[in-house]
Amino acid sequence: MKALGNFDIGDCFADVRCRFGHKTRLFNIDRGHYVACDECRNYIFVGSNLMSGWRQENRDIWQSNYDSVKGYKFIR
Ligand SMILES: [Zn+2]
Repeated sequence: MKALGNFDIGDCFADVRCRFGHKTRLFNIDRGHYVACDECRNYIFVGSNLMSGWRQENRDIWQSNYDSVKGYKFIR
């Protein structure tokens, strides 16, 4: 299993877990998918356009998702 910061990356972006057992949260900003850990206050990019859900979202949702990780560390 690959690791990125505190995240364990599984075979699929849906398998991303925090190594500390925290609950993670998957969200979109435009067509990009991200996973955040609110306990560790960081997030990673997991891919783009892998799920079609972003098409049902809008700029307001993406803005609030972006705001939800403001001040978090982006791990790349
Ligand atoms: Zn965590």
